[in-house]
Amino acid sequence: MEHTIQLHDKKFKIMIPAEEIDRAVSAVAERVREDYKEIDTPVFLGVLNGSFMFMSDLIKKLDFNCELSFVKLSSYTGDHTTGEVKTLIGLNNNLKDRHVIIVEDIVDTGESMEHMIDLLKAYEPASIRMCTLFFKPAAYRKTMPVDYCAMEIGNEFIVGYGLDYNQLGRNFKDIYVVTEE
Ligand code: 5GP
Ligand code: MG
Repeated sequence: MEHTIQLHDKKFKIMIPAEEIDRAVSAVAERVREDYKEIDTPVFLGVLNGSFMFMSDLIKKLDFNCELSFVKLSSYTGDHTTGEVKTLIGLNNNLKDRHVIIVEDIVDTGESMEHMIDLLKAYEPASIRMCTLFFKPAAYRKTMPVDYCAMEIGNEFIVGYGLDYNQLGRNFKDIYVVTEE
């Protein structure tokens, strides 16, 4: 395990080792399993790119039938009257009357999650819950509940286990935090 890594112009030091992440993922998976084991084929929707490792580890700990898909929030900037318009790409499941669990890497202000939920409501699912690997309660500005969260952290910037700094750092199995120097 490398204790510090350099990504672009910044140094990061180890913050959460892989074993600790695994314990937190197991604990949150157990809560999801309890709540969904009787539900008919829930749909897990991972938000790319950051959630791919969490999704992979989470889903392996569940022993009931479920579907899985990855989606991306694409943003394109319209003219200044329309502002930023976000659309959902990659969705090929029928979500009508289905139980959907959004799988996220990190919920910070909650903007992305709120937007994702608004877009998904148009598909008329039976329910929508969110399951995030990390949650920054001090940065959160929304009122909707964060249904499942594996780990809470402060406002520090982290990378690893799927999370990036300008596209680097996703491949590391541990979580690293940016250092001051
Ligand atoms: P929100 O919309 O909740 O403010 O931000 C969520 C998104 O911001 C995440 O999906 C992630 O892409 C990015 N983000 C927020 N905090 C961090 C962090 O500490 N590290 C990384 N790598 N991305 C973050
Ligand atoms: Mg994300």
